[in-house]
Amino acid sequence: LVSRELQAHDSIVSIGGTKVGGGNFTVIAGPCSVESEQQLFSVAEMIKSHGVPLLRGGAYKPRTSPYSFQGLGEDGLKLLKAAKAQYQLPTVSEIIDPVDAELMAEYIDCYQIGARNMQNFRLLEAVGKQKIPVLLKRGMSATIEELLLAAEYIINAGNPNVILCERGIRTFETATRNTLDLNAVAYLKEKTHLPVLVDPSHGTGVKSLINPLSRAAAAVGADGIIVEAHLNPKEALSDGHQALTADDFAKLMADIKPFVNAA
Ligand code: PEP
Ligand code: MN
Repeated sequence: LVSRELQAHDSIVSIGGTKVGGGNFTVIAGPCSVESEQQLFSVAEMIKSHGVPLLRGGAYKPRTSPYSFQGLGEDGLKLLKAAKAQYQLPTVSEIIDPVDAELMAEYIDCYQIGARNMQNFRLLEAVGKQKIPVLLKRGMSATIEELLLAAEYIINAGNPNVILCERGIRTFETATRNTLDLNAVAYLKEKTHLPVLVDPSHGTGVKSLINPLSRAAAAVGADGIIVEAHLNPKEALSDGHQALTADDFAKLMADIKPFVNAA
């Protein structure tokens, strides 16, 4: 179902009215986790001022350690809905449990399936039975074929609105958090009609590398990026080390402007 042989033209997926795919370079930005109204709204206002059309923020966080911040849960979803109303920014947020699928659809505009759950097949089927789109991130040790088959699960369950996301894979390299696989982006654009995004925040885990890898993502043909931003990264409850500040973000938006306008 995902193959270009079946459908030659690019699929365009609408997240709450914002179109992703089809040669339009989209930016999704926001904090790693929703932490408070003040935190979320301040980031939303900042990205909105740059014309970013979509807000990200995790309410259910799949943390490596059980002792790390696990997210605000439904309270976080409520804040996302409030931020959307205030700033007209449709939202993307991670789902980690199939039982949350219906509840989340009342609050947000797009599910994110995180790298750690790319092959959680019950979860893929659960979002496949819903109507809002799914941003499916590549597992950190998943092959491209496995990513495409995970997408196949969602579409086969009834939801064709799938967006793929390359977010870096595990390699022998330790200088960066992950190794952003730009091969995968070019390859996916050839093989599938689904939109393909790049996450340079998790792909590098290094703040200063997010800007160059965002430009690389555009150059290689990605349909956009999803990046983490925080007005006070030192206080962030997750991924503060890779969060762009307002100044970093302004620079990024200026540098990728030629690609965004190419649409
Ligand atoms: C995230 O987007 O904050 C996240 C946890 O991403 P990934 O699943 O790619 O690690
Ligand atoms: Mn994160």
